Amino acid sequence: MEKVIEVKNLHKSYDSLEVLKDISFDVTKGEVVCIIGPSGSGKSTLLRCLNRLEEIQAGDIEVFGTNINKVKNLNKFRENIGMVFQLFNLFSNYTVAKNIMLAPTQLGLMNKEEADAKADELLAQVGLADKKNVYPDTLSGGQKQRIAIARALAMNPKIMLFDEPTSALDPEMVGEVLKVMRSLADSGMTMVVVTHEMNFAREVANRVIFMADGYIVEEDNPEKLFTAPAHKRTQAFLSSVL
Ligand code: ADP
Ligand code: MG
Repeated sequence: MEKVIEVKNLHKSYDSLEVLKDISFDVTKGEVVCIIGPSGSGKSTLLRCLNRLEEIQAGDIEVFGTNINKVKNLNKFRENIGMVFQLFNLFSNYTVAKNIMLAPTQLGLMNKEEADAKADELLAQVGLADKKNVYPDTLSGGQKQRIAIARALAMNPKIMLFDEPTSALDPEMVGEVLKVMRSLADSGMTMVVVTHEMNFAREVANRVIFMADGYIVEEDNPEKLFTAPAHKRTQAFLSSVL
């Protein structure tokens, strides 16, 4: 299987606080990897390291076989990696269409017509074709997050990173966002998803990584990790959230 992400012995500190301690894992093409674990365990930091939003102190991160610290054109590299955050960060002064079309047109990857067609395609994909010309303020949280996903997909990324994409949503809106993520996973997208949605992890992930205190405590297929975790720490976490 083609490895698209390879992390080896990664250490990351903020000043004297070491938040990632010897992290190693791989992600293969088309795989959905969910990262779970208590707050403060380093999940967001790890995701941010993957597209070099954070500098690291030791270890290697390879994406598509290239050490990301040796990447010369960082913007070009980041085009391959879409990221969706807990808070959607849509531009409130732009329409939904413009939010989606902005990056690919500004970077010269698509002309206006191509970007417009892409926006139509993506809006249909996230079930919001009728919202093309509205402003984000008129949307619900779930709709905003689906637009944020469409915006990330507009760059035709090869990997999608999600950092607790449903954590800021009212409970009734979680399902619509997970549905879009699930169909993206079904389409073969390589995804790394930090989530508290254990059912999603269980049903959609090929592999689940449990992190605590800056370590990967264990990783396994969801069936094994959720029903027979090897470590006490994982058991304790799961019994607190399930
Ligand atoms: P998680 O996403 O699992 O909740 P984070 O990666 O956000 O964990 O944080 C891991 C640790 O790193 C926490 O102790 C947090 O306070 C600390 N941390 C995160 N970002 C910064 C930062 N920019 N500066 C200093 N400390 C940070
Ligand atoms: Mg986090």
